[in-house]
Amino acid sequence: MKLYEKTAAELSEMLRNKKCSAAEILNDVNERIKAAEGKIGAYVTLNNNAAEEARAVDESIARGESVHPLAGIPIAVKDNISTRGIRTTCSSRMLENYIPPFDASAVERIKNAGMIITGKTNTDEFAMGSTTETSYMHPTRNPHNTDYVPGGSSGGSAAAVAAGETIVALGSDTGGSVRQPAALCGAVGIKPTYGRVSRYGLIAYASSLEQIGAIGKSVRDAAMVLDLISGHDPMDATSAISEKTDYALNLRETAKGLRIGVPDEYFSENIDDDVKEAVYGALKLLESEGAQIKRISLPDTQFAVNAYYIIASAEASSNLARYDGVKYGYRAENFDGLTDMYEKTRSEGFGNEVKRRIMLGTFVLSSGCCDKYYKRAKLMQQRISEEFSEAFTDCDVIAAPSYPCAAFRIGESAGDPVEMYSRDICTVTANIAGLPAISVPCGKNSAGLPLGMQLIGNKFAEQIILDAANAYEKICGGFNTLAANL
Ligand code: GLN
Repeated sequence: MKLYEKTAAELSEMLRNKKCSAAEILNDVNERIKAAEGKIGAYVTLNNNAAEEARAVDESIARGESVHPLAGIPIAVKDNISTRGIRTTCSSRMLENYIPPFDASAVERIKNAGMIITGKTNTDEFAMGSTTETSYMHPTRNPHNTDYVPGGSSGGSAAAVAAGETIVALGSDTGGSVRQPAALCGAVGIKPTYGRVSRYGLIAYASSLEQIGAIGKSVRDAAMVLDLISGHDPMDATSAISEKTDYALNLRETAKGLRIGVPDEYFSENIDDDVKEAVYGALKLLESEGAQIKRISLPDTQFAVNAYYIIASAEASSNLARYDGVKYGYRAENFDGLTDMYEKTRSEGFGNEVKRRIMLGTFVLSSGCCDKYYKRAKLMQQRISEEFSEAFTDCDVIAAPSYPCAAFRIGESAGDPVEMYSRDICTVTANIAGLPAISVPCGKNSAGLPLGMQLIGNKFAEQIILDAANAYEKICGGFNTLAANL
């Protein structure tokens, strides 16, 4: 077995017992990058200093120093998370040559632990999308079938994990962008409670909805990475004052007594039959291990996509106003005065999807429209949150599909943005309500493409959803995230 096939937890154990070195792990991953990257396109930029960093970890271990359990483990970082000295593009022409002078807090933590950043992964432009096709760089392909999308917007991160081009990855999730590509690539992906992980250095799309999350081949790997990046950060005013988490250490394997709510609205006619069957099948298995399955109803789910796209676009229009060609990033070459410079810079620097959202956001915030759209969306957000709180009075977790369908062909969705938006129905609610949610693989469709089950928890109840996911992983005997025959 090659080292890239192993989980972070297994490699950590091997490193501790001197069965392999950080340099050897990186070598295996690099060989894999050489073999697969041409077909997958998971990365935008590779980290040229990775070998040196791995050597430093090995030296530290050789000196007998105590190192973090994740020291020496390769991790890929989505290209909207700032890395000092490494180009961070958001897969946009606007930031094509931007090199941040600082690290995001999450990156600082993974570096301090001695994790090895393999590179920066492709994303939909500014994390807006669900396929990674809106990237200015190149599309990323699904390792399980390279004619298909990997999902998005953290498609590069999920594809890198499923292709063995890294061991674990960071993504960001504004409306599903960690869980959805994890589902479509057969990986585990967790989005934490809003405020659990610092957003400092995460390039903003919709600040009130998004969180950095973790992707891996197992629930334990996702838990280990989340433990590392979570916790209060004075650099992010919205980061929660909370104790250090120990999810991985406390991870349980039993579903006994777990009350799982299954909301009708997430199993509507808009969800493909094979997805529904796979999730129901997974729930049956959990039930046979002692979980209690309850049918519930969350009627306001029907307004979630509308509320999400109004709020997310409103925030995007404000957040992206900073790209004006003055301070940093792209500037148009030929212009006639200041206003023309702004206009040309933004017209040339942003792609169509980003422009669409800026225009929609500007519209819903404009006087005359604000009451009608933005304020009503915020009211709906309140109602959706209350509906979840109510549901969690007699459920421990809520189970749903992660996405209405399996991966689809590259290019297939390009013409219909509204149809694409509507497919975010399973994931956006957790962002609207600020709840933690995890996607785990729950089988494949007849074409061999992975499907995902989502487990949503109450605020700060990450441990419960991780335990439930881990119980399910144990029943399955592991997830087989790695794509065969690549
Ligand atoms: N698909 C959603 C969108 O396009 C979610 C994106 C995300 O979570 N970053 O906004």
